[in-house]
Amino acid sequence: MAKNNKNTPAETCSFCGEDIKNDRCFKGVGDELICFDCVERGQSIIAQEVGLKKNVKAIDMKEIMRPAEIKKFLDEYVIGQDEAKKYLSVAVYNHYKRLNHIALSDKSNVEIDKSNIILIGDTGTGKTLLARTIAKLLKVPFTIVDATALTQAGYVGEDVEGILSRLLQAANYNLDEAERGIIFIDEIDKIARKGDNPSITRDVSGEGVQQALLKILEGAVVGVPPEGGRKHPEQKLIQVDTKNILFICGGAFNGIDKKISQRLNRSTIGFQGSQNRTIIDDKNILRYIEPQDLKSFGLIPELIGRLPVLTFMNPLTKEALLQILTEPKNSIIKQYQELFKYDNIELEFKKDALNLIADKAIEYNLGARGLRTICENIMIEAMFDIQNIEGKLKIDKQYALKHLDLAK
Ligand code: ADP
Repeated sequence: MAKNNKNTPAETCSFCGEDIKNDRCFKGVGDELICFDCVERGQSIIAQEVGLKKNVKAIDMKEIMRPAEIKKFLDEYVIGQDEAKKYLSVAVYNHYKRLNHIALSDKSNVEIDKSNIILIGDTGTGKTLLARTIAKLLKVPFTIVDATALTQAGYVGEDVEGILSRLLQAANYNLDEAERGIIFIDEIDKIARKGDNPSITRDVSGEGVQQALLKILEGAVVGVPPEGGRKHPEQKLIQVDTKNILFICGGAFNGIDKKISQRLNRSTIGFQGSQNRTIIDDKNILRYIEPQDLKSFGLIPELIGRLPVLTFMNPLTKEALLQILTEPKNSIIKQYQELFKYDNIELEFKKDALNLIADKAIEYNLGARGLRTICENIMIEAMFDIQNIEGKLKIDKQYALKHLDLAK
């Protein structure tokens, strides 16, 4: 095609029929003309068509861990939480399979939907730790973002698209890779609707953000500022298709246990006779969570519908806390022992001291988060006076109590 240099007002585009202005057209073989707008439209159609079959490589399934192997790996770092581990392992494994289904353009006509996950559990029970641990073995880009920073587009705070900038960064700006990644959105409960009644004033950090997230979770092509932050009109945006990105959302949902109990009580009174009443484990009410509880908490039904896999974290018992102190590959106690090794000191924690630390953590009600603070208070003096310690330091209950008192 050659550029048309004539500019007669009567000329129209042979495709859209619009008048051609300022010479902005290409000339076809005969008398046909095509305007720049139609060329641009055609270009984007081709880009989309080709884009569907971009250079996405299939993942070699022989190199992929099966769900049971993924769980075993998680067990090395995260104590307990078997249900959540199972759900996460299956989700990751199925994510790979789904990506291959698309990459290999499987002709079976069966489309595999993605199964985004929502993980409910008290603070300090290991939600973020699970996400970070699973990231170590992933074959796709992964990022963790915090929902508290998000606001509806145009308000002070981070736009929802910023989440995708992070994933792009994690993928070294390889768009194909980013579009197959996994995003963990922490503190999703913080964007719950404020109050049950839709308010007159706009809820820009709650429901507004949920609406914006919905679009991304559903699968859309979103213009993303490559460096994150706010969009500027002059900034070049990268078009990211979120259709194949897996989302895992986590949150503490403080107070949701009451909503679950209310629902359980209602159904127990309403529908079941006393002889076949379900026995409810009231120490772990979260295990009875259902999507309607998320709705009562303030998540919009459309968002809940986009997070079909709902799982929970168990509260940490004293036994679990004791295990957390000593068993994981990089447990807190192992970390202190490593630190003291640099000064040639053997550090030993006696059982009674560990028991005390676990009891205190339960008292603080911060899950395993409290363990580090308590240990730090016990160890600060020893770490400060390390030059005066020779050979071995034994931490027993008496030592721990004395130093906890000192730290007050
Ligand atoms: P959450 O995201 O649920 O609030 P985190 O995963 O951030 O909690 O946990 C805080 C810290 O507590 C972790 O870094 C880890 O040291 C410890 N921890 C919490 N739960 C577990 C667990 N189940 N197993 C091992 N360590 C844990």
